[in-house]
Amino acid sequence: MSPRQPFVGGNWKMNTDRRSSVHLARAVGDGLPDDASGVQCAIFPPSIHLNAVSETLRETGGGADCVLGAQNFYPEPEGAFTGEISISQLRDLGVGAALVGHSERRHVIGEPEELIARKTTAALESGLLCVLCVGETLEQRESSKTDAVNEAQIRSALEHASASLLDGIIIAYEPVWAIGTGRTASPADAQSAHERIRALLGRMYDASVAESTRIIYGGSVKSANAAELFSQPDIDGGLIGGASLDADEFLAICSAARPRQELQGASS
Ligand code: PEP
Repeated sequence: MSPRQPFVGGNWKMNTDRRSSVHLARAVGDGLPDDASGVQCAIFPPSIHLNAVSETLRETGGGADCVLGAQNFYPEPEGAFTGEISISQLRDLGVGAALVGHSERRHVIGEPEELIARKTTAALESGLLCVLCVGETLEQRESSKTDAVNEAQIRSALEHASASLLDGIIIAYEPVWAIGTGRTASPADAQSAHERIRALLGRMYDASVAESTRIIYGGSVKSANAAELFSQPDIDGGLIGGASLDADEFLAICSAARPRQELQGASS
């Protein structure tokens, strides 16, 4: 029996306006069961809608179990950082989680490893749940570099993170070629990458960190493929992009992540 609570996050990216973000947050908050069935859910709206979504989640019933997440922040407490948002400003709005190292920030915005490491440490030290995204490009996959890329990105991001901070980390394995493309890693390939990431955590820290750290999969997950992916022993949920913009789809994916023993009970 896995001690790890499944996690499903919805990354809305640069989508929604104020009205549709409130509508989507209400549908997710109202649709989550009171106890969220053992799954920890989170939504990551655009920063500009965090306040509106925070208020909406507070008004909804199941929203109490839905963590509000930020897609981005700057790892300094305050000061002359035009256009940036600090962790304490996010906390003030009720934010409890943040994405770090998402492939669009690495490869489209050009965020360097050194900044990703600073953000990871700052998020963990502040007590935010830090969803650290890693994964290989298609070219790296085709030259059999998947595990090496994951290892390099994780070692770099966690360079300053001691074992005592790792309660707050969730690692999202997101092959770049699968994000937003409709192509998904096969459950066996995703499981193999997750298993190696868990073994890496064992080498970097210890067996207890490896066993307790949640490792989730991202890359074109939808309700039709979620259950098979989440049934793999080292896949502890998912980070969902496109499909999280549809409340029914997102809720179905959250429910596919229910703890393994519950699913077994429901089907027997
Ligand atoms: C993501 O944005 O992290 C993601 C996995 O996107 P999609 O589900 O659309 O592939």
